[in-house]
Amino acid sequence: MLRYLNTRGPASRAAIAAETGLNKTTVSSLISELQARGLVVETGLRQAGAVGRPGRVISLDGATVGALGLEINVDYIATHGLDLTGRTLIDRRIGFDAMGSDVDRSLERLAGVVREALADLAAAGLRVMGITVAVPGLVNVETGTVLYAPNLGWRDVPVAQRLAAASAPIPVRVDNDANLAALAEYTAGVAAGTPDLVYLTGEVGVGGGIISGGRLLRGGDGFAGEVGHLPVDPNGDRCGCGRTGCWETKVGLAALLRMAAPDHAYGRPDSGPVRAPEERLTEIERRQAAGDPRVEQALREIARWLGIGGAILVNLLNPRVIVLGGYFARFRGHLIAEAQAQLGRLVVAGPDARCQFVASELDFRAAAHGAAHVAVERVLADPTMVAMLPAKSQPTWRRR
Ligand SMILES: [Zn+2]
Repeated sequence: MLRYLNTRGPASRAAIAAETGLNKTTVSSLISELQARGLVVETGLRQAGAVGRPGRVISLDGATVGALGLEINVDYIATHGLDLTGRTLIDRRIGFDAMGSDVDRSLERLAGVVREALADLAAAGLRVMGITVAVPGLVNVETGTVLYAPNLGWRDVPVAQRLAAASAPIPVRVDNDANLAALAEYTAGVAAGTPDLVYLTGEVGVGGGIISGGRLLRGGDGFAGEVGHLPVDPNGDRCGCGRTGCWETKVGLAALLRMAAPDHAYGRPDSGPVRAPEERLTEIERRQAAGDPRVEQALREIARWLGIGGAILVNLLNPRVIVLGGYFARFRGHLIAEAQAQLGRLVVAGPDARCQFVASELDFRAAAHGAAHVAVERVLADPTMVAMLPAKSQPTWRRR
């Protein structure tokens, strides 16, 4: 019933009974229980036009239960807080040099961000039911351990366990950043509802989140979607993973910097204090506006390689949409047409494959948003995980 209210929106008891096929007594008793857990609220009057006595409508309660999503990436930590209705309460990002910090320092900073966000959500009156952390790497979702995150330099880091002190008693889950961003796109992005889509992170690392037939494709060990390490050029550059010619060495943010603004490239000891990725992008746009030919050349090269790698994905997965996230979205105007033209040339099904590159509107927030979203999803799937409120604070009717 909670899921029904989530997709359909507010409804009267009679409508819920009629549309779910549950009998009215069951609907009433379920509503009472969900109210007692602070998950639904009875509000207002039913819209005019309905015959008979005006009734009240039941809707998800956005005032009591929340979820937190975080993303740690090469140069930032993003935080996203949602209430049960999917409303955004926290949306922030701080610059943080995770590439240049050791694991302990990164986890300490992450724990600090968790504490701060939990305090903010508590101050807003929300009980946080779940925390999900997005990491650009291979994750054992069962144990909350990051097995390998090449661009962070992490191996076998038990992230969920290490954050437990900051988050207790709220459970922490860990998942791959591209998987979570793909879920955010599938539920709330430009291609929402497209059952076959691929999301590409446009960061230093390039990860893929694959939705196939409306489900996230994880593979046998949960490692599906490591598209950034597709070996596309045996004579190419060395990748963060230690191999040669991976796709992300052609299209990742580090590749753009290296080609367009080598003095701002990642990993240079003299590149100054860490900056959020937007600042690096602003610098590139400034040079482009000033007529620096390296920027146009770099973007053309990246667009070409986006199309080449994209064609591999289309031949393999037959998605309808490839959603470009991160910096790709910011430079959409310079990337999409050329990448689409490459796709047209290289996909074996030709125009019949009908796959479009589109730019994400969630930009660098997608993974943290998706992370919060999956924590909300768990409540919708199992409302009994939310404890009953003490009887005196249970509202029977709240005016909006
Ligand atoms: Zn690689």
